[in-house]
Amino acid sequence: MAPVVIILLGPPGAGKGTQAKNLVDKYGIAHISTGDALRAARAAGTELGKQVAAIMDSGGLVSDELVLGIVRERLKQPDTAKGFILDGFPRTIAQAEGLDAILRQLDRKVTRIVDIQVADAVVRGRLTGRRSCGKCGAPYHLEFSPPKVDGVCDKCGSTAALVQRADDMAEKVDARLVAYHQVTELLAGYYKQGGLLAAIDGIGNMDDVFARVVKAIEG
Ligand code: AMP
Repeated sequence: MAPVVIILLGPPGAGKGTQAKNLVDKYGIAHISTGDALRAARAAGTELGKQVAAIMDSGGLVSDELVLGIVRERLKQPDTAKGFILDGFPRTIAQAEGLDAILRQLDRKVTRIVDIQVADAVVRGRLTGRRSCGKCGAPYHLEFSPPKVDGVCDKCGSTAALVQRADDMAEKVDARLVAYHQVTELLAGYYKQGGLLAAIDGIGNMDDVFARVVKAIEG
């Protein structure tokens, strides 16, 4: 397959991260998640991490310059040569324009944009119930996929309490949805003209949604 540049659009909680991981497994391409990169910077206690902590916890968007800097650096890594998936980026028109400029310099082009559509009520249910193991980070959902034995991690056996992302608390989820509807949703208009945009239904089990994603990519 020729090197691909796939953008996953959709609200927080649409399953972009999950589907990106499935695409990595299927196509052997790189996964670039600006949310993951920012969380890693925070966990490492870098200057950048400290700078963005409050904004991320509030559910707002960090600055375009900063995210574009992360993506520019990440695309210098050799694992992106075979193709890559952008997950959670771009989120603003300025980021989309910045991405176009970066790709021009690299002589690359966006090959497909998949917009995973999920209603706000579903997003709220998915995100507010999301938890992870306090020790190994294994993902859970209080309602849809709790640990098999209450209080014990299926993966590592830890009895550490499950943890919730600060921005998955109800009022923060609402703020993230506002940012999505007011800013990020405009990207569908930005990408409409190029004929690369495919909208898919993000409701249903993970495998069904993945089949739709692959169909949107392979046609
Ligand atoms: P995510 O894991 O993609 O939901 O991102 C978590 C948080 O990181 C977001 O709510 C934003 O605060 C920040 N973030 C991630 N990606 C971007 C981006 N492309 N532009 C601005 N802020 C971002």
